[in-house]
Amino acid sequence: MADGGIPSFKAADLVIELSSTPKPKRDDPAFGNVFTDHMLTIEWSASEGWQAPLIKPFGNLSLHPACSSLHYAIQLFEGLKVYRGDDNQLRLFRPMLNMSRMSNTAERACLPAFDQSEFLECIRRLVELDQDWVPHSDSGSLYIRPTFLGTEQSLGVKKAANALLYVILCPVGSYYNSEAGCLSLWADPKYTRAWKGGTGNFKMGGNYGCSLFAQYEAADHGCQQVLWLYGEDHQITEAGTMNIFLYWINEDGEEELATPPLDGIILPGVTRQSIMELTRKWGEFKVTERYLTMSQLCSALKQLRVKEVFGSGTACMICPVGHILYQGENLHIPCQDKNSQLASRIAKELMDIQRGRTPSDWTLMV
Ligand SMILES: *Cc1c(COP(=O)(O)O)cnc(C)c1O
Repeated sequence: MADGGIPSFKAADLVIELSSTPKPKRDDPAFGNVFTDHMLTIEWSASEGWQAPLIKPFGNLSLHPACSSLHYAIQLFEGLKVYRGDDNQLRLFRPMLNMSRMSNTAERACLPAFDQSEFLECIRRLVELDQDWVPHSDSGSLYIRPTFLGTEQSLGVKKAANALLYVILCPVGSYYNSEAGCLSLWADPKYTRAWKGGTGNFKMGGNYGCSLFAQYEAADHGCQQVLWLYGEDHQITEAGTMNIFLYWINEDGEEELATPPLDGIILPGVTRQSIMELTRKWGEFKVTERYLTMSQLCSALKQLRVKEVFGSGTACMICPVGHILYQGENLHIPCQDKNSQLASRIAKELMDIQRGRTPSDWTLMV
């Protein structure tokens, strides 16, 4: 038993098998095609509980063709990054928020519980082992992808009696590139990303496979991402796989940074939470979780009350939005002109924390 009383594996039991064929190090501006030398795997079964965690050479998994993740999408993941600071120290950004979100998702997927701190320590050990893979550039980082899947060898639709928790690492380049211009979004209510009572507020793999078709339709309309709308009133919910923020003068004439509330259809982003906490600490404008509809956005645009719209997520951190295609109209959003600097100011403050320039208890040293 771990401290929290949850039967769990323990980092102290880690077994490490080193790779005898380390690969040449490179990073991947395209995201997610280059992997480091090692991976962490932890097996679970209903009869025997958790096995000892294992770090071993990166390689293929062997899965039974009937395994439940392949048939019924009993599968979930997380995404976080480790950053190399100016001081050459490696830092994780608020990793316990990812651990608790992963636990919540596992519960929703009927996968077994684990001790979050023990898991984080195993991840830290993996990163430590593959630390030379963390890019030295100021824009690069090492992406950490914890994954959890049902591996029971049965076609029965039921709780998986076997599961595999594993972690792989990818060196990645920068997503936030102020030169890259502003994101264009396709807003059409014909597809729904998430619904009340569904799984949109959990990082389940199935949510993302289901979104692809709409993503390609957005591309057919010349847009980069989908702006996911919800309900009869076309509520603005998320942009692609990012949370969304509107910085504007609201209906009451107040300067406000607004994002939709966590009411079951919004993924509780670590970046989202950090942006709200950071800007609330500044105390310079109202920071609100509230419903935002397309008609509110359209009238605010007409009255020139919109300052900025941006998406947030670990991959890109902050991504400014420049256009929204809605009901045949291409709405222009002010983006990266001299008067719209909030996105870059937030991005800089978060980056300064991640790179250790601003001391913060939001980082965990590897
Ligand atoms: C992961 C994710 C986000 C962003 O979460 P972060 O913790 O900030 O990376 C936002 N929306 C969706 C749908 C996501 O899957």
